[in-house]
Amino acid sequence: MAVTIKSKSEIELMRESCRLLSLVHEEMRKAIKPGITTYQINKIGEDMIRSFGCIPNFKNYNGFPAAICISVNDEVVHGIPSKKRVLKEGDIVSLDAGLIYKGYHSDAARTHAVGKVSREAEKLMEVTKQSFFEGIKFAKAGCHLYDISAAIGDYAESFGYGVVTDLCGHGIGTELHQDPEIPNYRQKKKGIRLQPGMTLAIEPMINAGTHEVNWSDDGWTVTTKDGSLSAHYENTVLITDGEPEILTLERS
Ligand code: MG
Repeated sequence: MAVTIKSKSEIELMRESCRLLSLVHEEMRKAIKPGITTYQINKIGEDMIRSFGCIPNFKNYNGFPAAICISVNDEVVHGIPSKKRVLKEGDIVSLDAGLIYKGYHSDAARTHAVGKVSREAEKLMEVTKQSFFEGIKFAKAGCHLYDISAAIGDYAESFGYGVVTDLCGHGIGTELHQDPEIPNYRQKKKGIRLQPGMTLAIEPMINAGTHEVNWSDDGWTVTTKDGSLSAHYENTVLITDGEPEILTLERS
């Protein structure tokens, strides 16, 4: 499948889809505290998505049973919300969410601290977020796709962290996952040349220890192989003639 270039009117729909998603993230963030279950956080997110008349695009995606992927501590991504999973002080929790507005998908992830967390956890979350911003320095027309990959991976690895290689970012638009795949580590090739109108979900997944992961028997949850903490940070980004536009960034 070719990489799609969105028209002006499609970009407007992407912008609105992403703006609504950023509101959903804000609402879920406010709810994070010790004692809340991941089921409750999922419900807050899903209810808000539906209140906008939108569809949670993760729900039933290849059979995923919830609207929001909620991954705690050593869970990298695709954690399934549960009434039994109670967040406690010192946990870190990543919320990966998306929605469909008038046929256009948005996708973003945040990792939050639950109460006070260790300095180690704090640093992992900071570096993961910053690796995204290092990457998008190259999310510009004329740069190559894997310039983004190299910038993310090199930055995270400079802290001794493991960059997850089993999973990657992706193009996004009328489907949740479109071409191109966007790895989070240095590639031998350059990748496609970026053009204005491309919309990309760029999403570093960074482990405090080894980059290696396990795929759980539940068919979904990905965890770090060594049990170390993992963080995830993602935005849907528009390539323009100048600086990239981060469509899912919170306004507050
Ligand atoms: Mg994504």
